[in-house]
Amino acid sequence: MKQIIKILSTAKHLWRYYLAIGVFTVFLSILTLSQPMFSGWAIDEMRKGTSARVDYVVMLAIAIFVIDLMHNLFSNISGYLGDQMAVKLNRSLSLSYYKHILSLPQGYFDTELSGKIINRLNRSILQITNFMQMMSNNFLQFIFSTIFSLAIVAIYSWQVALMLFALYPIYIWMTFRSSGTWQAYQAKKNHFTDVASGRFAEAISQVRVVKSFIQEARELTFFDHLQKKVVKTNAPQSKFWHVRDVQRRLVLNVIFLAVYIYIFKGGATGQFTPGQVVALILYASQIRIPIFTISFLVENTQKAVADSKDYFEILELKPEIKDTPNAKNINVIAGSIEFKNVGFSYDNKQTVLRDISLKIKPDSKVALVGESGEGKTTLTNLLMRLYEPRLGSISIDGQDISQVTQNSLRSQIGVVFQDPALFSGTIFENIAYSNSNATKYDVIKAAKAANADDFIEQFENGYDTEIGERGLKLSGGQKQRIAIARALLKDAPILVLDEATSSLDSKSEAMVQEALKRLMKGRTTIIIAHRLSTIQHVDQIVTIKNGKIDEVGSPSKLSKSDGIYAQLLELQQTKNETTKKKLRAYDIAS
Ligand code: ADP
Ligand code: MG
Repeated sequence: MKQIIKILSTAKHLWRYYLAIGVFTVFLSILTLSQPMFSGWAIDEMRKGTSARVDYVVMLAIAIFVIDLMHNLFSNISGYLGDQMAVKLNRSLSLSYYKHILSLPQGYFDTELSGKIINRLNRSILQITNFMQMMSNNFLQFIFSTIFSLAIVAIYSWQVALMLFALYPIYIWMTFRSSGTWQAYQAKKNHFTDVASGRFAEAISQVRVVKSFIQEARELTFFDHLQKKVVKTNAPQSKFWHVRDVQRRLVLNVIFLAVYIYIFKGGATGQFTPGQVVALILYASQIRIPIFTISFLVENTQKAVADSKDYFEILELKPEIKDTPNAKNINVIAGSIEFKNVGFSYDNKQTVLRDISLKIKPDSKVALVGESGEGKTTLTNLLMRLYEPRLGSISIDGQDISQVTQNSLRSQIGVVFQDPALFSGTIFENIAYSNSNATKYDVIKAAKAANADDFIEQFENGYDTEIGERGLKLSGGQKQRIAIARALLKDAPILVLDEATSSLDSKSEAMVQEALKRLMKGRTTIIIAHRLSTIQHVDQIVTIKNGKIDEVGSPSKLSKSDGIYAQLLELQQTKNETTKKKLRAYDIAS
């Protein structure tokens, strides 16, 4: 019930449509329900033989025709309103879902497949819209035509009305009784389809990997395996539902048997005129419709409840990372960063970082060095507040980042990731992604500084070149330089370079390095580098070991200690396979 109220309240703002459709459908049912009355009158008039008024029966026929005409017109107007309402509902449902999903912290996306997120939306929207359409088209009409036809039948015979009335509670009770089991099956089916769609989307977005490992068959099998489970779950679910339906209809049939016997007997004994008999039979069969509608209403209601469950669950997820009630915008002037006793774990079990204390001076360059998986990227994630430290605090220019607005914080940090993560669209759009007010001039200037202008100009469409999904049509070095241009255009005082030059060939690396140098100028920069050559020129090296800071110092100072950095330098001198392997453990290319 709570769930139904939730579903209904998603469409609060469309109440005018519901009201209009409701009024139309009630009107339509009045029209339909008045027809048997006219037929009954006509028959009784005809039976008068030669004294029957011909013009009167013709008038009745015309009345039936006019009702048909009005029915035609009104049902289409209400159909039009229903269509409009459905798309509007669709819009608001998907928008609020998208908005909410975007407000969820990074952690949510770590565990959810994007295909799953999208599939849930589609399913929920479909069922909620269906439900609302059904409610507006059928519910009021159902209530109204029930009351109306029972009232008319009661005028002819209260006994028949009473028998028909008894059907409703029995039927509703029987239908709801089977709802729980049905929903449990449905939840199972939804789970299987969600997982299947999640993998589907993942495979499609990385189809190159699938093809290169010739794993099309495996992906298909995985998908089909889940679809088979859906089919398998559907069998008992559907069987269950239909067996119950047979039982329900049996009750209905028995009651109708009693009703017909009563009417026929009344007709045979002269209690009812033949006209009344016809009218009663017509009403009785019209009452079957709302009763069968109950089944339909309940079936759709439980579908809507089951299929929108995940939707509402997601909408009720509270973003763990929220702006404090009176969070101010951060004010970054110098760009100093301080980590104070920061401890962190992704899952509350395995500690990734412990007791990290680190001061980074304005406009200085700091390199993070540590084995792969030591938490270098994690440290920068915390700085952007994509995750919240479990312990300690982080501040920028003396302002605790948990006390300022997330938007203002992130506006002050430029990032170049190892994976440049571009969007489909043009090169221009991708560079200007960081600044929607950027002019063509700004974009070209940024591209030039990023060493990207040359290759962009070589494309036939220049800055208007479409680069495909995630920039698929560009080389690694090209993508990287576009990502750098994008960061340049953001012009943020703090910069994070997370292995921005790994996986590049040496020529494009030189170009990227040069671009990065320009980008770093005048900004406080945290570098996670994979080349010792990059690290040699920084102001400070921070080495991380077992989730803790091991050493902090200038490259020249650390080269003389026997810490990680000194060892790495030494390893680089002696180039053999074992040293290469060791270096690689530190994400350092030799
Ligand atoms: P680095 O950048 O130093 O190579 P990361 O900061 O990416 O390392 O990862 C540190 C540790 O945290 C690793 O053990 C990794 O498996 C784990 N980790 C990274 N990202 C996540 C995540 N989103 N959820 C859970 N664990 C994660
Ligand atoms: Mg990393």
